[in-house]
Amino acid sequence: MTKRVSIVGAGLAGSEAAWQLANRGVAVDLYEMRPATNTPAHRTENFAELVCSNSFRSSEPVSAVGLLKEELRKLGSLILDVADATAVPAGKALAVDRELFAQEVTDRLCTHPNVFIHREEVLSATALTKNGPVILATGPLTSPALAEELRTLTHSDSLYFYDSLAPLILTESIDMDKVFRAGRYDVSETEVGDYINCPMDQEQYDAFVAAVVASEKIEPKDFEKAIYFEGCMPIEVMAERGPLTLRFGPMKGKGLTDPRTGRWPYAVVQLRQDNRMGTVYNMVGFQTRMKWGEQAKILRTIPGLENAEILRYGAMHRNMYVNSPTVLNEDHSLKVLPDIHLAGQMTGVEGYLESAASGFFVGTTVAAKLAGKAAQRPPLTTALGAMLNHVLHGNAKQFEPQNVNWGLFLPLTEDVPKSQRKEAMLERARTEFQRFNQKT
Ligand SMILES: Cc1cc2nc3c(=O)[nH]c(=O)nc-3n(C[C@H](O)[C@H](O)[C@H](O)COP(=O)(O)OP(=O)(O)OC[C@H]3O[C@@H](n4cnc5c(N)ncnc54)[C@H](O)[C@@H]3O)c2cc1C
Repeated sequence: MTKRVSIVGAGLAGSEAAWQLANRGVAVDLYEMRPATNTPAHRTENFAELVCSNSFRSSEPVSAVGLLKEELRKLGSLILDVADATAVPAGKALAVDRELFAQEVTDRLCTHPNVFIHREEVLSATALTKNGPVILATGPLTSPALAEELRTLTHSDSLYFYDSLAPLILTESIDMDKVFRAGRYDVSETEVGDYINCPMDQEQYDAFVAAVVASEKIEPKDFEKAIYFEGCMPIEVMAERGPLTLRFGPMKGKGLTDPRTGRWPYAVVQLRQDNRMGTVYNMVGFQTRMKWGEQAKILRTIPGLENAEILRYGAMHRNMYVNSPTVLNEDHSLKVLPDIHLAGQMTGVEGYLESAASGFFVGTTVAAKLAGKAAQRPPLTTALGAMLNHVLHGNAKQFEPQNVNWGLFLPLTEDVPKSQRKEAMLERARTEFQRFNQKT
């Protein structure tokens, strides 16, 4: 009997998954609802449409996203191959001619003998399981009927409709001499607190608030305006409400005794551990729509963060995703209904490339399952492995989408000077990726 898989959504993840399955001899029914039904962001009927920027970000391997590109190229990714073929000059980044890119992905899939295109909106993924395994890759703007089905399947508290993201900081880039550890009121003299606190005096706080108010922000799109009512308030909206609003909100210093002064600071910025490895901290309550350049400048005025490496900037936008560590099995199938697999942004990755990488993993994993083989996951020391580890084993209590970044990688075991750590991680990643790739 022919092996058959249904894929819903021909975006970055669905297109990649379809290509990998089809190339492994599996018949793919690829469902795409455009152009009959559109999302609020897509403009064309092409597959793998880039809804905003035309950039896949840095190509330098010493950036985690550059390394992910290197790995995907070696694995035979469709998205990377077409991106390389349609690239436009963009310095150290990989940017593409968006029309040519999406057209080429569409053409390759439409002419593949194992891919069968269905231009229709899928209202129920469960109904499709009668034909075989299903991969849902409908992205951050999944159509309402399907989102509702997923909400029912995963329970409402495991499905989110908005991102409300605070910036993430690489722990080793925090100046520990300027900050102190404490948890509000609850730390005995012998314990160290769970939070890293960046203390501010009144002058520093006033300057910070003024800079936030004056900063340039990203205007929400019409379909995103409800976020402020649904989610938490961005720091700039609080700052605009009055000079003391942040001080009585997320920047409250009350109850946080600075061991160096024995007093509570005028204001603080609190950082909370973000992953089990302790390599990443998030800025508590600091969701923001300030432009990235403004965040880079203003956040580095906070004591202790002068040289902070910002792994992810704050953001607030419409984004439907599930709490993957709670609802997904290791092969990205739903725990409640293992015939349905999730791929792409909806699993808690962020970005075009990461979504394609997720599609690659799920496509090849489902193909392996159909062939009766065990699926292989790359080691945590590689970019793909680190990204997938975030999806499946990220912090379930506060699960948020992330771009691939060095903070997600397994820390080095040997003692390497700070200035050489990324090079050492890169070398380790390449060695272990090669070993993995030879095995699979
Ligand atoms: C407004 C906006 C701007 C963004 N800007 C950027 C950016 O600049 N850079 C970046 O890296 N990332 C950006 N992202 C994130 C981006 O969406 C993802 O990186 C990427 O497109 C997600 O890939 P995906 O395959 O998971 O989903 P998508 O690429 O969105 O693909 C999902 C596909 O599923 C289809 N679909 C949905 N529901 C159904 C249904 N019921 N039946 C059939 N088909 C369906 C959709 O039409 C779509 O083609 C942005 C996201 C949004 C919402």
